[in-house]
Amino acid sequence: MQQVVLQEESLGDGLISEERLFGLAEKMEIIQLLAMAGVRRMRLGSFAHSRSVPQAANTDVLVALVRRHAPEMQCTAIVRNERGLERALRSGLDHICVEVPVSEADSRMHYGRPVDEVMTGTVRLIGIASTEGALVRAGIDCAFGCALEGPVADAALLETIDRLTGAGANAINLIDTSGMAHPQQVGDLVTRILDRFPQIELSLHLHDTRGLGLVNLYAGYTAGVRVFDVAAGGLGGSPDGSPDNVATEDAVHLLHGLGAVTGIDLNGCCRVVGRFETLLGRTLPGRICRVLRQRTAGDASGDDDCSSAINPCWPD
Ligand SMILES: [Zn+2]
Repeated sequence: MQQVVLQEESLGDGLISEERLFGLAEKMEIIQLLAMAGVRRMRLGSFAHSRSVPQAANTDVLVALVRRHAPEMQCTAIVRNERGLERALRSGLDHICVEVPVSEADSRMHYGRPVDEVMTGTVRLIGIASTEGALVRAGIDCAFGCALEGPVADAALLETIDRLTGAGANAINLIDTSGMAHPQQVGDLVTRILDRFPQIELSLHLHDTRGLGLVNLYAGYTAGVRVFDVAAGGLGGSPDGSPDNVATEDAVHLLHGLGAVTGIDLNGCCRVVGRFETLLGRTLPGRICRVLRQRTAGDASGDDDCSSAINPCWPD
């Protein structure tokens, strides 16, 4: 049995483009539903200023609430500058995420600075966080290609990982920002990175923009990745319903079918998706909960145990 960690991103990356702001009580309700479903690792949001990221308001309060009411949950959040890092560490967070671009065009558009400048600042943040005893996961944007610049050279990516791990990052997250990754590319790149950096935790943050999210996850799993970012219902696309993040429940369904252990219960996932759909007033793009709902709705017994509707031989 292969253990796989699914890092829940619905309250972080998932809500970033939602106009509807989620309050602390709603976020805590979702976190407790996630914890009941077996999720043990999640990104709570970011320590950006609430003016630039309104959903990030009160992340420090949320950290304190989770530590008190869902202590089993390992939490992380993004920091982008020293002020954010200071707030994160003061809140008691001991897992930090940073992100760097690998393409100049993406760097200038989303960070407003050249890659080298962002990298220098990030290396400094990693150094401070490490000194303070926090674990740091460094994400690399556009790792599989940039919509503005095209393909990203493997050499540039490997050099970026070298600098980030050299600065003290404990984990590297390859982010398919534009959803350009292809399964063959994912398998080859992951194999190359794991060969060269066997000591790091390598994770994948995949997007389903071009319909290859789950296939890329499968390619990464087959090549040896055991940590993936996912979001309940596939939350994270634009509010018109277009898919973006890989849906937690669809990843769980796939991985359990492969014999992997995630610790996450599919029925519990569907409760989280249902709550998000009620709060947002729309159906989310994830697939498997829709299938399970249709099957249970047609089940005259009224049994609401979703797992029996898939394949009774699969561990769930
Ligand atoms: Zn995402």
